[in-house]
Amino acid sequence: MNYKDAHTHNLKSAHESIYIVPLDNVPSSLPTHFAMGIHPWYLDKTSLEQLEQIIQKYKPSILGECGLDKHCDASLEEQKLIFEKQLNLATEQQINKLVVHNVGHHNEIIKILKESSFSGKIMFHDYSGNQDQTEQYEKHFDSFYSLGARLFNTQTKLVQNIETLPLDKILLETDDQTHYKLDEIYSQAAKLLKIPLRELVEHVEQNFNAFIV
Ligand SMILES: [Zn+2]
Repeated sequence: MNYKDAHTHNLKSAHESIYIVPLDNVPSSLPTHFAMGIHPWYLDKTSLEQLEQIIQKYKPSILGECGLDKHCDASLEEQKLIFEKQLNLATEQQINKLVVHNVGHHNEIIKILKESSFSGKIMFHDYSGNQDQTEQYEKHFDSFYSLGARLFNTQTKLVQNIETLPLDKILLETDDQTHYKLDEIYSQAAKLLKIPLRELVEHVEQNFNAFIV
């Protein structure tokens, strides 16, 4: 079956995927779909000036992953500032797709995105929102929700609310873990969504294509 991986850090992925490029070690050959941005964990590794140069050189069609993380060393204020500046950079460089990393800061993310000039598609990777938050993302943005290893933790609000996610916006991902393979993530998602695997594969393929165009 035609599995798509919406978010991977593995350059050698066997699937059509979106590769998150390590900015301090850009591979000499990049896959068709890749994203470049400053992750909130690594704010001190790459400056905005360096990111701008990297973007001009490699011309990614997707900016990310960028966002906010409550488990970061950097202060929330600093994270917000760098996130906002990356949104401006995406607009300036005419990049119309974004991959957002968000751990524990839904309200701040919504506020910053609403106030920013960015108006393209947004993939919320490792999505963890509840129904209210999804409703807000749906109302304000052209949103996609990428799900991965979190699907195996049935105590999470994501799993408890999974049937409220729009099927035409769901993506699936391996991210940086190797414990669960992509086909296991698809099977788990199909089980939780209570739809046949084949039907889910078709939806995710369409959604992946809708995101990357
Ligand atoms: Zn990632």
